[in-house]
Amino acid sequence: MEKVTEMFGCDVFSDKEMQKRLPEPIYQVLKKTIEQGTDLDSSIANTVAAAMKEWAIEKGATHFTHWFQPMTGITAEKHDSFITPQGDGVLMEFSGKELIKGEADGSSFPSGGLRATFEARGYTAWDPSSYAFVKDGSLCIPTAFCSYGGESLDKKTPLLRSMRAISQSAYRLIRLFGNDDVNSVYPTVGAEQEYFLIDKRLYEQREDLRFCGRTLFGSMPPKGQELSDHYYGSIKPRISAFMKDLDVELWRKGILAKTEHNEAAPAQHEMAPIFTTVNIATDHNQLTMEIMKNVAERHGMVCLLHEKPFRGVNGSGKHNNWSLSTDRGTNLFNPGKTPSENTQFLLLLCAVIQAVDENQDLLRISIASAGNDHRLGALEAPPAIISMFLGDELTEILDSIESSTVYKEKGRTQMELMNGVLPCIFRDNTDRNRTSPFAFTGNKFEFRMPGSSDSIACTNTILNTIVASVFDRYCDRLDRAEDFEQEVYNLIRESYSAHKRIIFNGDGYSEEWKQEAARRGLLNLPDTVTAFSHYCDEKNVAMFAKYGIFSQTELRSRTAVLVDNYSKTLLIEAKTALSMIRGQILPAFSAYAVTLCQSAACKQSAGLSHSYETETAEKLASLSDELYKGVGELEQKIGMAASLNETFEKAICCRDMLIPALEHLRESVDAGEILLAEDYLPYPSYKDLLFGI
Ligand code: ADP
Ligand code: MG
Repeated sequence: MEKVTEMFGCDVFSDKEMQKRLPEPIYQVLKKTIEQGTDLDSSIANTVAAAMKEWAIEKGATHFTHWFQPMTGITAEKHDSFITPQGDGVLMEFSGKELIKGEADGSSFPSGGLRATFEARGYTAWDPSSYAFVKDGSLCIPTAFCSYGGESLDKKTPLLRSMRAISQSAYRLIRLFGNDDVNSVYPTVGAEQEYFLIDKRLYEQREDLRFCGRTLFGSMPPKGQELSDHYYGSIKPRISAFMKDLDVELWRKGILAKTEHNEAAPAQHEMAPIFTTVNIATDHNQLTMEIMKNVAERHGMVCLLHEKPFRGVNGSGKHNNWSLSTDRGTNLFNPGKTPSENTQFLLLLCAVIQAVDENQDLLRISIASAGNDHRLGALEAPPAIISMFLGDELTEILDSIESSTVYKEKGRTQMELMNGVLPCIFRDNTDRNRTSPFAFTGNKFEFRMPGSSDSIACTNTILNTIVASVFDRYCDRLDRAEDFEQEVYNLIRESYSAHKRIIFNGDGYSEEWKQEAARRGLLNLPDTVTAFSHYCDEKNVAMFAKYGIFSQTELRSRTAVLVDNYSKTLLIEAKTALSMIRGQILPAFSAYAVTLCQSAACKQSAGLSHSYETETAEKLASLSDELYKGVGELEQKIGMAASLNETFEKAICCRDMLIPALEHLRESVDAGEILLAEDYLPYPSYKDLLFGI
């Protein structure tokens, strides 16, 4: 193996490469562009493009592509070769214009009505703050994707806009506390990625996995995850080989892959990277998902990123660890060492508490998808109710500030809270609460609701924006305050008092919590359609407009795309179920029932008892009848849902008709599956899929 230090980032046109290959003055202009997030100066674009091309060709590239993230959630690329005719041969060329801006005939990308097909062109524009890289012989240029009229058609543009919002408001706030050495603030994110690996040969035999990414049927094997013997367990050789390869591929792309381990469910694993700036973390997470799939293929496996590929064992998520950092590398959510640092920390903390409480709807929306609906509220995952974990110490500190009482540190000295004297807060990692959807984990917030297949762009766009909005309101108050310190205390006390209902340190999976949350008036948006119906609420439109994240038109179009995607996903699942039941399951039930009847007849003529055969055949026959009736009904429902045009109406129809119908069919299929002799199983069972490697 090559040395990791040499291999790391070798496929990336990094700062080091830029410095090496660009004339100093041009490098300086480019660096400033990157740091300030401004547009690239067209006068230097040709030089930058030429250097990039030379580098990429040395890495074996023949093509370039603007790499972007349309609203489908995956990444898109369209490859152009560098060749230009020259006499009898060709030259390899790449201009500054091609680097800065691309035109993508994006008529097939969803736009939610923003882009009429006669105006199908979309534009892609380089985001110089995310490095270009080489992948499969192509120079990939991370870009944002906009319509002809400038409306965003992707996940990246709003994210970049939200970064600007939070950077400005956070900078404004911390400057009020002094911090004269700080020049800028930016959000940092580390996204832990969960996934399943299964054998490719088995995968190919299951239509549901191929078309839906999850199993629609399947009864639990005798053993699931109850022994917790997979979690952090020793890694099997085939998986270990995959992880080693994955690390190398990720490192080559400059992705800071740090931790690889087995997760709770059999066949489930996780990769956690070291955190970085949020737009880069987002690009890296998109790349990570793609690379995971490719590396798995090479190892004869398939990487499943669906939120709930198997019923009965844990689903997969993506823990979004979020914090704010200054350009000096100070983490703003690190509890400070001095009382004044702690005052700033507590105010920032209260801002996040307030932002989460005020925007439960948006956080819920940011992670809503058909796939994640199977996971939220299920056994392992956060319920669909947003709440926040602070831990006992911080909660007690805020409680005592609220009631102006004396906070007694456990086992330490008693301290006066008013008049600027705050206790020293120690980073407390001991009481980690795995059941909280939004946990403060010592120096960052861990949002555990995002689904494993989702882009983290939307979640972070929303997080950045809602926190920026509270920061700005705090700044407005503090700007006007006569006594700064007193006003900070007032803010902490008022904000905590008004929003502490969102804090819950107990077991978020318990039934009591659901009732308690309802008593507290917390929002419970149980499914994707219900969640999306709040996206364009007045308060959201106003906030997004204020920060220039989405115009009302953009927000509407985005909602339409997401809701439409929900309906399409459910329709594909329903059609897949239909196809499997008709093409595989009913024939298997029938074939085995016939075999049983033949055996029964045989045994009967020999004077033997045959209750196993007759009774099992009878059960299979009655299950088959039910299924036969069920598929007829499902087909009708599919037809009805498919005929609807209005996006929400269609999604509601899919949710209310298709989900229960599939559920009902699954009961019969799973009940029949366990009666079949193994040879008659039409596809690999959970036993094989989950324990096949
Ligand atoms: P834990 O014990 O909470 O799992 P880790 O340090 O292993 O803590 O972090 C888990 C994830 O959180 C990693 O992906 C890590 O990079 C990320 N993380 C840590 N600190 C920060 C931060 N300041 N901002 C964003 N993400 C962070
Ligand atoms: Mg985890």
